[in-house]
Amino acid sequence: MITAEQKPIDEIRKMIAPYRKLLVLGCGSCVAECAAGGEKEVAMLASALRMAAKMNDEDVLIEEKTIGRQCVRDFILELDEIIESYEAVLSLGCGAGVQAVSEIFEEVPIVPALNTEFLGETKDQGLWVENCVGCGDCMLYYFAGVCPLARCSKQLLNGPCGGSQDGRCEVDPDIPCAWQLIIERLEKFDALERLEEIYPPKDWSKRYGLGPRKIIREDQQK
Ligand code: SF4
Ligand code: SF4
Repeated sequence: MITAEQKPIDEIRKMIAPYRKLLVLGCGSCVAECAAGGEKEVAMLASALRMAAKMNDEDVLIEEKTIGRQCVRDFILELDEIIESYEAVLSLGCGAGVQAVSEIFEEVPIVPALNTEFLGETKDQGLWVENCVGCGDCMLYYFAGVCPLARCSKQLLNGPCGGSQDGRCEVDPDIPCAWQLIIERLEKFDALERLEEIYPPKDWSKRYGLGPRKIIREDQQK
């Protein structure tokens, strides 16, 4: 999923300062899972903004809504009947959601309330970790399900740097050495021979330098 964190309230207040009628818009998908932009976070942020407005004698109408996904047209169209009654939308969607809503409702300013972070996993309550950098050519088979691009601090593809201690990364002892995990898992699956291959440097042209990536699936198109 895509992870995100809420921007500081002062930054949000500065961006929404010109607007007197505001819709705080949540997204019920990834950002709800990472406790940044779901219904609960919308309620908390809207209430904090109302309180701040009241304390500053500002006459602002702040309402709330959460849709299933801010990055999917069918869900965004649920705003069709109501969006014109607001001067702006404060979006608690990820960067993709903010842009998708902006594109469909071009005439309404869509203000981002979150900083979008990374592709990750919910590891524990209140703990999200990055485990994929979206390289466009997944190599998890060769590395027994542990991604060295996301989880090795040096993004090494052909074995460890040699600096790990007690299974921890030399760059950050708080994280396990990805290569220790890769080797342990390959051993467990009796597949260490996968490391005999030399993996060339990653071809980042699939990710960078060709403009925005897209996936076209004709079998999914009407
Ligand atoms: S190799 Fe790593 S970065 Fe690339 S798609 Fe697989 S998990 Fe993601
Ligand atoms: S200690 Fe392990 S995870 Fe850290 S940089 Fe070296 S090989 Fe990568």
